[in-house]
Amino acid sequence: MNDRQAHRSPRTRFIHGMISMTAIGFIMGVVLVKTQSRVVAGLILVWLVLSAIHLSRIRCPQCRTQVGEQGRVAGIPMLGAFPQRHCSRCGAELTRPGT
Ligand SMILES: [Zn+2]
Repeated sequence: MNDRQAHRSPRTRFIHGMISMTAIGFIMGVVLVKTQSRVVAGLILVWLVLSAIHLSRIRCPQCRTQVGEQGRVAGIPMLGAFPQRHCSRCGAELTRPGT
């Protein structure tokens, strides 16, 4: 982790990740429609997988619960596009900068 990331809160990092995932996904989607290229379709798939991995690694600084987790249904974590201000499990502040 570099210094720039350390000064942003887990929630901010998650939101930035979501925005770049959506923005680049959208641009590649437009290119796909125009070119009908299988390579571009593959790139979109790779991009979405990498983004999902990146987002899943942004966790609560206290209990390591994923920031995108909205709570659990029958023990299965429910992931949402928008992170909560407080951790769904331990209630820790996720808007505070730090790791
Ligand atoms: Zn937590």
